[in-house]
Amino acid sequence: MIERAHRASMSKTELLLLCQYWARPDVVVPPSEAGPRAIIGNETHAMADDLIKGRPITEASAEATALFATLRPWIEDRHYTTSEMVVYYNADTCEATADTGSAGHRNYKPHDAMVLPGTLDLVRHDAPAMTTTNIDIKTGSKSNVTPAAENGQLLSGSLALRAIYKSTRSFQGLVFPLKTKVNTDIVEVSQDQLDDHAGKLRRAMRALPTSQPQPGKHCFRCPAWMMCPAQVKGGY
Ligand code: SF4
Repeated sequence: MIERAHRASMSKTELLLLCQYWARPDVVVPPSEAGPRAIIGNETHAMADDLIKGRPITEASAEATALFATLRPWIEDRHYTTSEMVVYYNADTCEATADTGSAGHRNYKPHDAMVLPGTLDLVRHDAPAMTTTNIDIKTGSKSNVTPAAENGQLLSGSLALRAIYKSTRSFQGLVFPLKTKVNTDIVEVSQDQLDDHAGKLRRAMRALPTSQPQPGKHCFRCPAWMMCPAQVKGGY
């Protein structure tokens, strides 16, 4: 019995727009263990979440603690409404829901096949200004990350925030905590750009159930490359 509608989420938006095959519910993807960088990233995210929610900061590795030490004042200088916000965006209807009381971040509830779930690291909603800000914390290499103005993960999250809050201005950005400073890339995206992204997402989600492999340079990011028929045939 297939229990998941698909394997896609907002963090894999850019791969989803280029190839949907890996996200089909009937494609078997072997489980993978989080590497050291991912563990440091998870710890840093958890500490930021504790800070925003006013909880005691969770103890973490020395590396994550060092990154959080530079990230903390940056967060404290801003007024984020929430963190680790779980959202579900319906690519057919362009509606979205939020689940701030989720049982665990990135543990998504069963949902419709046209729904793309995601977790937004830092969110600010300014109701009088009808503005939302969607920030993703990146602890890995900056060279692998698409700039904020074109970043598919951020665009998907901003679409969800626009639908939830009926906002008319959308800011989105990337925050890179380093050992001695924080680098940022934060931009305003136009509503036309969000509409264009909504159309791309709708087409990808509709194509997903019957999609075939679409190999290319993006395959190096794919969680299913070991099982992909295009790779077996000697593709990328
Ligand atoms: S390896 Fe490439 S072609 Fe195959 S499913 Fe992944 S992204 Fe698609």
